[in-house]
Amino acid sequence: PPLFRQRYSAVQQILLNENWKSQIKKVVDFGCSELNFFKYLKHLYDVNEIICVDISEDTLIDNLFKVHPLTVDYLKRRPNQLKVDILVGNVSQPDARLLGTDAVIAIELIEHLYPDTLEALPYNIFYYTKPLLAIFTTPNYEFNSLFPDTKSFRHTDHKFEWTREQFQSWALNITTRFPNYTVQFDGIGLGPEGSESVGYCTQVAIFLKHSDEEEQLSEVPRSCREILTMAILN
Ligand code: SAM
Repeated sequence: PPLFRQRYSAVQQILLNENWKSQIKKVVDFGCSELNFFKYLKHLYDVNEIICVDISEDTLIDNLFKVHPLTVDYLKRRPNQLKVDILVGNVSQPDARLLGTDAVIAIELIEHLYPDTLEALPYNIFYYTKPLLAIFTTPNYEFNSLFPDTKSFRHTDHKFEWTREQFQSWALNITTRFPNYTVQFDGIGLGPEGSESVGYCTQVAIFLKHSDEEEQLSEVPRSCREILTMAILN
């Protein structure tokens, strides 16, 4: 399958890990773009709330049809009701609706962020939202040496592409600042035989929370704007 599908399946498999599967009820997909990961989330039957957030309102509106129930959803009922919210918002700005989130997903998002947004992101996710699990994917710059054009980034909107060392030091710095989290690394998409030394095409960081601090947050604003809220009934 193409790499984007491999990425969706890999992230779905991480969510289905027996160690936390039953604890993942509320999921936020940041930088959800064309809402393509939604159908993978919808099939996780332990999940009962999905919030998709993107900064581009036009992209969300053009793709809203993807969250409406299909005929098959009425034939094969879910064991529980699913609440869906589609929000225009910024991954770096806290929103009260995101509190209580169990898993945060950010597939191919961070490389699109300007430095100020990237710097504010950990604070929103690990201080305010505090999910049990946070999964980030991003291109592995080292893998680009296998492409014909090795000079440019993979996409014109990418602000950076990181080597494994750069990505890991970004992630480990987060666990230093938020010590109730640890991080593990993985990869998706191997190159041809003999190219193993450059690593996988996509790199993945999986943050896991180990304890719940009791710290009370002062009032959390609502920085996102609602585009759609609906319930998919069981
Ligand atoms: N996660 C998507 C997927 O797997 O199908 C792909 C993400 S796409 C490459 C990057 C998305 O991030 C774009 O839709 C863009 O609008 C969004 N984005 C950029 N900056 C953002 C920000 N600060 N907060 C939220 N979304 C942002």
